[in-house]
Amino acid sequence: MDFLPLFHHVQKQPVLVVGGGPVAARKAHLLIEAGAMVTLVAPALSDAAQALVDQALVRWIESKYKPEHLGDMQIVVAATNDRVVNHGVARDAKERRLPVNVVNYPDVGSFIFPAVIDRSPVVAAISSSGAAPVLTRLMRGRIESLIPAGFGRLAELVGRYRKRVQSTLPDSSSRRRFWEYVLNGVVADRMLTGQRDQAAHLLEEALSQFQNNDHGHGEVYLVGAGPGDPDLLTFKALRLLQQSDVVLYDRLVSPEILALVRRDAELVYVGKRRSDHAVPQEGINELLIRHARAGKRVCRLKGGDPFIFGRGGEEIDDLADAGIEFQVVPGITAASGCAAYSGIPLTHRDYSQSVRFVTAHLKNNTTDLNWDELVAPGQTLVFYMGLVALPEICKQLCAHGSSPDLPIALVEKGTTPDHRVFTGTLSTIEDLIAQHEVSAPTLIIVGQVVELHHKLNWFKPAVEG
Ligand code: SAH
Repeated sequence: MDFLPLFHHVQKQPVLVVGGGPVAARKAHLLIEAGAMVTLVAPALSDAAQALVDQALVRWIESKYKPEHLGDMQIVVAATNDRVVNHGVARDAKERRLPVNVVNYPDVGSFIFPAVIDRSPVVAAISSSGAAPVLTRLMRGRIESLIPAGFGRLAELVGRYRKRVQSTLPDSSSRRRFWEYVLNGVVADRMLTGQRDQAAHLLEEALSQFQNNDHGHGEVYLVGAGPGDPDLLTFKALRLLQQSDVVLYDRLVSPEILALVRRDAELVYVGKRRSDHAVPQEGINELLIRHARAGKRVCRLKGGDPFIFGRGGEEIDDLADAGIEFQVVPGITAASGCAAYSGIPLTHRDYSQSVRFVTAHLKNNTTDLNWDELVAPGQTLVFYMGLVALPEICKQLCAHGSSPDLPIALVEKGTTPDHRVFTGTLSTIEDLIAQHEVSAPTLIIVGQVVELHHKLNWFKPAVEG
């Protein structure tokens, strides 16, 4: 280890930043965040530094650096673009035994700034000992994405209850289990979303349960997994996936996403092909309830968004009846995912002022949709579950007044490596699809916006019709 990481208390301490450029402003900003009283010394200021002065966040000495500026400073940062000045500052500061940082020259100063992940009061600092700042920033990005924004609130919660938990649960291992339960589960989740009172209430409830040797109730997460590309998961979905004990997933969830589930979690396939449900819906709901009652954190993972043709509503309805805690995490629905990856904007000032998500699932081989509304101009139609009904969709739209030349796209396995787009018109698409082996899931987009695909397609070369 070349540098010892320490956390420095700089509240209300005078700190000198030499330099007025953007780098100096960044350092000043960080110091201000930590409560320091920052003085900038520089003959001129960049816009970023000027903004700090304008907001009265820093004091500005309009001058070149002179050793007397070090006066009663506690820390010094040399951040000019002049190497000689920076080295001079470092020398003067070291003579006075002041901690000094020289931007870009870790060895010249006496300390370096880490990359900071601020979830105050929880703070993580990363450094590559000055060797590879870009790598540190990358690492910070990764860690940032894993630690939810409100994480610091958890420390507040723990702080508030620590003493009471200590006296209520004298046994240290049951205390540890209690805090794990609190920090991994529903209590933490409520706290993270700012529902402080509810979190406190649930914590108290859990505390009395643990006191009676009952180790808490489980919870269900209804999570949208997006259309396929694992990069389209939300941070929250990923976090909950990685803390679930049981994951119930269906066919639309891609293997890449399942690979992100915690290693020791139980994975349960509950199917869902057209009219072939590996586990019937009532069975799924029962499973969710049974696992949650056994104290497990259960993730119900669904393709796309759980509230868009996902039966999410029905599932949590049963959970609510059973008094089970749940939360819903939205996902990128197939319409957004497929459209974005096909270069088809769903709305566009020139062509389409609204968009409709329509289920084309056939009941008794027919759809009972309001076709008169669907043919209205200036809108985009997105049909889910429409492959089987494609001929019927084209026929009905034309019969109700759409032009046979209206553009239509069929997106197969959107956002995945097998993503394919077929485009044509209401009168040509059926023949085109017949010439290819197209397999589910597929999404149908109808409207003028489909034209834009030819210009805006960026994800993969499409098979044109
Ligand atoms: N809740 C899901 C939809 C479930 S219904 C969501 O919000 O996306 C299942 C239908 O979604 C499929 O028949 C298909 O029309 C569509 N779909 C889901 N993922 C898809 C994908 N990757 N590519 C194309 N269509 C998809």
